[in-house]
Amino acid sequence: MKIVIIGGEAAGMSAAAKAARTNPSADIIVYEASEIISFGACGLPYFVADEFQDPSYMAEFTPEQFAKRGIDVRTGHRVTKIDSVNKTLDVNSDEGTMTARYDRLMIATGAREIIPPIEGLRKEGVYSLRRMQDGIDLKAAIGNEACQHITVIGSGFIGLEVAEAMVHRGKKVRLIERASRLIPDAFDSEISKHFMTELRQAGVEVLTDEQVISVIGDQSVEGIITDKGEYQTDLVLVCTGVKPNTDFLLETGIEMLANGAIRIDQHGKTSLNDVWAAGDCASIPNAISGKDSYIPLATGANKLGRLVGEAMARSSASGQHQQISPFTGSLGTSCIRLLGLEAGRTGLSEREAVTAGLR
Ligand SMILES: Cc1cc2nc3c(=O)[nH]c(=O)nc-3n(C[C@H](O)[C@H](O)[C@H](O)COP(=O)(O)OP(=O)(O)OC[C@H]3O[C@@H](n4cnc5c(N)ncnc54)[C@H](O)[C@@H]3O)c2cc1C
Repeated sequence: MKIVIIGGEAAGMSAAAKAARTNPSADIIVYEASEIISFGACGLPYFVADEFQDPSYMAEFTPEQFAKRGIDVRTGHRVTKIDSVNKTLDVNSDEGTMTARYDRLMIATGAREIIPPIEGLRKEGVYSLRRMQDGIDLKAAIGNEACQHITVIGSGFIGLEVAEAMVHRGKKVRLIERASRLIPDAFDSEISKHFMTELRQAGVEVLTDEQVISVIGDQSVEGIITDKGEYQTDLVLVCTGVKPNTDFLLETGIEMLANGAIRIDQHGKTSLNDVWAAGDCASIPNAISGKDSYIPLATGANKLGRLVGEAMARSSASGQHQQISPFTGSLGTSCIRLLGLEAGRTGLSEREAVTAGLR
């Protein structure tokens, strides 16, 4: 049985390891577009804050270590097309394009940052934080003494963690959020107020209800213009959310949510025959609302990844899910440390409960 996995990070490598344990005779291949596997992006804000110095700490395993477990990991290989009828995929690498065959396929291509409609985002001094190289580049940039004033756009988990990192690095920090309060997608307004107080006490300039329109400067960043004013800054960090890496699947007709996340069932199965998905590229069943939700966190990616690995390795030719317990759903549990404050959530926020028609 040939199991192919696209994407070699949290979801993909959890699936590969579990599939190898479940069915040691399966032929398992992972295609990863980048050169790094098993990368935990969760460490990036702490690397940038200089809480540790070696970026390789963020990559748990190497392809060689997986090879010893019988898993063939091909980095620098990007899948560009899937033919789910003939069970083949097109793979691009330095050696050209080849067509590979699969019996069971998992899509674990994750997500990429949303680029908001702000003019001038290509200027030198504009950063985002997703890949290891993003963290290395950002850390080098803030290591320059001339880089003193940082503007963070977006107050989700990553925006807040990065704002904290910049405070720890002794920078002057401005955080801009277009909503009327901080981290509105994850926490209720009562908690947002605590985040606001904590940041302001640390000297962070927090601007809500304000939208960035353009980044100004000749070649590199000198400032920003918002719908309310103009501010000087040395560096801009864009933390405005993520979008699933699923554009290459559009022709397959695979079912997706409105944001492009692949719709999966409680076994991680997609609408295509013998194709599974998990992680930031996919939906996740919500334990409370019972609906398909999008919760791009490593916790869900790892759990669903393991489940998919087992399902692919055990699944019979007739498509039966042999003896595998279904995933009962995510509670959307997450937590954050922001300076001296720690906050956690589980279940639905008030806003999510209203949207789900439960309140
Ligand atoms: C700064 C930051 C902090 C975070 N902190 C936390 C945290 O504290 N807790 C938490 O739970 N989560 C956190 N997350 C989220 C967590 O990193 C993601 O949920 C997790 O990485 C998702 O894993 P994944 O395997 O689904 O996707 P990804 O990690 O995005 O990996 C997908 C891989 O697929 C590859 N790929 C994409 N397209 C193709 C293709 N066509 N062919 C071949 N390969 C392809 C990509 O190169 C990539 O390596 C954080 C994320 C960031 C950016």
